[in-house]
Amino acid sequence: MSSIEIFNSSTSFLITLIALAILAFSVCYSSQDIKIGKGIRYLFIGIALEFVGSWFGFKMNDYVQMGISINILAFLELLVLLLSMMFLALSASQILSVNVSDTPLIGAISGLGLVAIVYFCLIAQDGAMVSLMRQIFPLTGFAYIAASFWSQSGHKYKAGFFIGALLTSGVTLLLICRLLGVAPTFISSLWYVSALVYVGLAVALLIIKVDFMFKKLEDKDIEIEKYNKRIEEIIKSSPFPIIISRLSDDKLILANNNAIKLFGIQPTELERYRLKDFFADADNRRLLNERLEQEKEVQDFEILVKTSTGNTPFWLLASANIIDYNYDIALYAAFQDITSRKNREVLLKNQAVRDPLTSLYNRRYFEEEVTKRISLARMKGGCYSVLMIDADKFKNVNDTYGHKVGDKVLIELSSTAEKALRDCDIVARYGGEEFVCYLSDVGPEKAKIVADRLRQTISKIVVYSDDGKPFNFTVSIGVSSSEISDNIDMLIKTADDALYRAKENGRNRCEVFTKEDLAKFHNGENLPQKDEASQLHPIFTKEGNGEISLLDGIGANHIVENNTNIEEQKGTEPTKEAEPDKKNDYLILGIDDGDMK
Ligand code: GH3
Ligand code: MG
Ligand code: MG
Repeated sequence: MSSIEIFNSSTSFLITLIALAILAFSVCYSSQDIKIGKGIRYLFIGIALEFVGSWFGFKMNDYVQMGISINILAFLELLVLLLSMMFLALSASQILSVNVSDTPLIGAISGLGLVAIVYFCLIAQDGAMVSLMRQIFPLTGFAYIAASFWSQSGHKYKAGFFIGALLTSGVTLLLICRLLGVAPTFISSLWYVSALVYVGLAVALLIIKVDFMFKKLEDKDIEIEKYNKRIEEIIKSSPFPIIISRLSDDKLILANNNAIKLFGIQPTELERYRLKDFFADADNRRLLNERLEQEKEVQDFEILVKTSTGNTPFWLLASANIIDYNYDIALYAAFQDITSRKNREVLLKNQAVRDPLTSLYNRRYFEEEVTKRISLARMKGGCYSVLMIDADKFKNVNDTYGHKVGDKVLIELSSTAEKALRDCDIVARYGGEEFVCYLSDVGPEKAKIVADRLRQTISKIVVYSDDGKPFNFTVSIGVSSSEISDNIDMLIKTADDALYRAKENGRNRCEVFTKEDLAKFHNGENLPQKDEASQLHPIFTKEGNGEISLLDGIGANHIVENNTNIEEQKGTEPTKEAEPDKKNDYLILGIDDGDMK
């Protein structure tokens, strides 16, 4: 393609060189990160070799004058042109849209070409053949390139290939005309044709590169779309509720049918919901977000949630990931309903610490918890008391009304004691018909008042026998306090001693274990001791006399008062006084700080 005219003046030579340099820059830029990058580089090498070959032909006369054999020079020139053809053919094979393995063909043609130039230059020394080959090699190379560009120009992004195809086809046509001797003579003298083709190709390659980038973006979009579709399908067919929410504004982007049902979502108004709307506990949500910030993925995280309409919270096990979805950073969360498991856990926990009949704490919990409370109270220098409550002549209740009614009495007694005491106090079933209470920040004097009022309140409870007969019952209470001991066993033992005294002194009364009692206790003096016989209360000696002694110790007035109550309450359940939300005082017993002054 290169014309001898290029080398006739330094200006045209320089301009052509600059055009070649522009093509080189364009090749460097456009061949990077592109599938046909290698082909583009081969194209440049082929064109550059063709330029060198032409220059060699131009310089040949000078070298002949220097005494170098013209045959050798013609051989070298044709060798360069053959190489040029080879690279152009290799380039074309890379650019071709159809993947044909033409390497053997290129190899064969190159091999034949090599044999031909060796034969015609060095052996037969045929000048006509040499000049024919001088034209055929570039012609074949460009024809190849033109064909490959045309093969690509049918694509969506075709402008670059189309320009390239036009240019290389033009060059091929020119070379054919020159070969056939039909080219107008003025064309071969137009030195700038090469420069124009180089610059034109540079532009074509740049357009190819830009188009390639656009196509890459488009392919990426298609890939993202496919990926989103796949995620959507997986999510929709999942047996678990799954939600995807945008991280930037927390709005829902996707929810499968299971999630829609679980959270009561309106599927048509998905974007109206935020993930935070479903969290029943803000702290729980904060904790999950913190974990996600640190780890990007959280497995088996227990969350307390609520539906969009209901307020009853329920437990879910969540697995959450931060993912790319629809050009957004999103939170993918899959859930599993664990409400029944959680309920079972709570139940088991309660079973371990609560008494099944009365739902009060059990003895083990009481002793553990009170031991902790005592340590805290000691640190703060606070006081406390322990009440030991025992139903009076309870055996007789069972004997008279039956065990079931006896149970009812224990339930009533428990709930009354719990309601009467403050939230910070602890009431527990110690065993059988014995109950124990821990009163925080209460000394023995106040504890005695509390115990007496509690005893009175209990004595007013009305219980109905199976045949609807109302009856009352009483309790005796023993009190011990921080004045006596800071040891839970000792406190219970001394409260029990006081209780025993209350029983001895006639029941339905409270006795306090005092410091004086403690001195006697240590000296082993006649404190009422529970010996083997004490397994049996003295009242047992009175048993069998047919007397229902539950009302023992309750004055006549009291009976009247209770009977009035009974009349009022007939046919209804025993009244339950309204329980304040949080009790800091013994409101139900009518005791406040004023009582202590
Ligand atoms: P005292 O006034 O001396 O305490 O006499 P008491 O009859 O209450 O004492 P005692 O210890 O002789 O009897 C306690 C009775 O409590 C015996 C037992 O059958 C009954 N009891 C223990 N636990 C339960 C229970 O869960 N339900 C019922 N219904 N009765 C129980
Ligand atoms: Mg007892
Ligand atoms: Mg008893």
